[in-house]
Amino acid sequence: MTALLALPAFEDNYIWCYRGSNGASIVVDPGDAGPVLAAMADGLRIEAILITHHHNDHIGGLPALRAVFNGPVFGPADARISGIDRIVGDGDTVHTPGFRPFRVLAVPGHTRSHLAYTDDDVLFCGDTLFSLGCGRLFEGTPDQMLMSLDRLAALPDDTRVCCTHEYTLSNARFAVAAEPVNPERDRLIAEISALRATGQPSLPSRIGVEKACNPFLRSDHPEQLSGLARHLGYMPETRQARFSALRAWKDRFQ
Ligand SMILES: [Zn+2]
Repeated sequence: MTALLALPAFEDNYIWCYRGSNGASIVVDPGDAGPVLAAMADGLRIEAILITHHHNDHIGGLPALRAVFNGPVFGPADARISGIDRIVGDGDTVHTPGFRPFRVLAVPGHTRSHLAYTDDDVLFCGDTLFSLGCGRLFEGTPDQMLMSLDRLAALPDDTRVCCTHEYTLSNARFAVAAEPVNPERDRLIAEISALRATGQPSLPSRIGVEKACNPFLRSDHPEQLSGLARHLGYMPETRQARFSALRAWKDRFQ
């Protein structure tokens, strides 16, 4: 049996722990060592660490964890990250005892060296795909981000999407503005509102759910994005232009 655990960190980060058949776990993006060390005191054993990108809320805990963990740390080739001993890139496979192989996907957009990892059952996508949203474009273009999201959207619908931030309810407000009529999305918002009201994570999501509900995966459904057309005063002709306009609007959305 495998199990997914989201350790809360900082304001709204999650550090995902994915337990393998041998009882040890893969830990993803330990921005803060504190919650991981506390989980280790409760019995968490680390098999490997995966890093998606260089932002400090994803790597800040690495030095302290290095003091207590000798196993492999996988991550992108990026001089801004120290503590990675297994550099991986697009098309590589991460082999870890107790787990199915993880494929590495380059998903530039939020940052230029951002990676995602998937075994087609779970997806660790860092700050690229969020439930009902996507990452800000700090180092990439809208076209790059759209291509990255297209790769994630092509994964099996049942793939569990393990995003690194609890942004879902705030993303939901924008999703409703961009796409006013989407009953499936409205059901999702009701579900996650109930989860959040009791302090539970809204995650993981599923790829199929995001394709049906997340406006950033729906730029090929212009008939649905009437909110975007109203906001701009016209509907952009290409899906690239629609995605770009959605991302720019979200950056300013209150
Ligand atoms: Zn980030």
